[in-house]
Amino acid sequence: MKKALILGVFSIVAVVLLASAKDTYKVLRSIDGDTIEIEYKGKAAKVRLIGVDTPETVHPNKPVERYGKEASAFTAKLVEGKSVRIEFDQANEASQNRDKYGRLLAYVYLPDDTLLNDRIIRDGYGHAYTKYPFDPEKLDQFRAAEKEARENKRGMWADEKKAETKEEATPPAKAKYCASSGSKIFHYCSCSYVDKIKSSNMVTFSTRKEAVDSGRRPCKRCKP
Ligand SMILES: [Zn+2]
Repeated sequence: MKKALILGVFSIVAVVLLASAKDTYKVLRSIDGDTIEIEYKGKAAKVRLIGVDTPETVHPNKPVERYGKEASAFTAKLVEGKSVRIEFDQANEASQNRDKYGRLLAYVYLPDDTLLNDRIIRDGYGHAYTKYPFDPEKLDQFRAAEKEARENKRGMWADEKKAETKEEATPPAKAKYCASSGSKIFHYCSCSYVDKIKSSNMVTFSTRKEAVDSGRRPCKRCKP
């Protein structure tokens, strides 16, 4: 009887171990700060980390964004040569956990069980990206991680000021809120989206009320 019980416990442990080993995938390379490539079901598959957005480095039609290279290097250092565990979010079930580019949408856990998505934001290499819905608990976690990174001036938040003064010409010094003349969205002038607005299309506001009165909505990334 006791033997059967011990055997039973062992088989449960074995099943749990097998199940977790099955969810571990070899990282082939890191593509960008928020995208990696893993060996998945015998093929190379791109994985876009849920809930985090790092400055762009490899987009064919966009310039390399400030801090993009650092963000890429940060992720590369953490994942290269490792196997990671991935977890999907119920919110993406309908699209088979893939985005419109066919990339898997996932939470990526490092071998020490650190959630990479969180780690990137917490160390200041990416924003909490809340455009697509996902687990509300993780959403709160990622938002808190971004706040912590900003307050402690980690990673890209460290040189936010320096970078602004370097680009003095674009938004006038007094402007706090920026928008594109053709857009219904307004930003803090420090928002990375503002970098993409041509100076000839730049509209600025010194108060939030002015920006709202212009008929614009606050950006979901910089939350002005
Ligand atoms: Zn913004």
